[in-house]
Amino acid sequence: MEKRVELAARNGRAQLISEGKLVDVEIRSNGHFPADPMGVLQKWEAFCAWSRSQQPESSDPALDETELGPCVPRPGQVFAIGLNYSEHAAEAGREAPEAPMVFTKFPSCLNGPRSDIPLASDTSDWEVELVVVIGKGGYQIPEGNALERVAGYCVGQDISDRRLQFSGNNPQFSLAKSARGYGPIGPAVVSIDSLENPLNLEIQSHVNGERMQHSRTRNMIHPVPRLVAYLSERVTLRPGDLIFTGTPSGVGSVRDPRIFLKPGDVIRSEIEALGVLENRCV
Ligand code: ZN
Repeated sequence: MEKRVELAARNGRAQLISEGKLVDVEIRSNGHFPADPMGVLQKWEAFCAWSRSQQPESSDPALDETELGPCVPRPGQVFAIGLNYSEHAAEAGREAPEAPMVFTKFPSCLNGPRSDIPLASDTSDWEVELVVVIGKGGYQIPEGNALERVAGYCVGQDISDRRLQFSGNNPQFSLAKSARGYGPIGPAVVSIDSLENPLNLEIQSHVNGERMQHSRTRNMIHPVPRLVAYLSERVTLRPGDLIFTGTPSGVGSVRDPRIFLKPGDVIRSEIEALGVLENRCV
């Protein structure tokens, strides 16, 4: 196990979270690493090695998560996986897919860990998800080497407008999940090599204090190494690309009666060892 490295972004600048403080990466490294978090992800291994030798200074500001933006602000590609927990497939009345079911969240939907979510419809729903942040990436990555190509993980919410998603004759996943602000991620990219159990993390969501979803990531139908191998069989994965890995059961739209998000609701999304997102709907 390596020492934990956490990369966050404030005002678009890469920040190392260290002992409850924010260390500005470009300034502290004298320009060796760039201010842009996307550039830091391109040098992830060197960044982790450098980070592990850093100590915060008394002048570094205290971490305030309300100031953070999305920890990966401009990924080239955002993959998302549908129906990747069998209990969620069952509650949705669908067969568990034999191969991963892939769509995208357009990157402009990404949002900060404590940012407001402007509701684009009265049929919007929550989906807490583990988000994979690609490090080295590559093409046709074997499943056995997949985790070496991953920089880390963060928590994500795949907010979904169900009316748009299922209107018309053909499902419309990507647009229905990409409204402005519908992709909170964070609070930080946590290095995968610091996680004791990267394939078995507790995952849960609460809405207004009531627990709605609760599972473990080992219950994924297609686990993270298989998703990386499956996607990279066809496309090149590049540093900073994201994979939303699917949500466990307990979404609002399949409850009886159905529950949708309304202004004032607070969604708390939490994954063991990665932290918490808390987003208010407006
Ligand atoms: Zn989802």
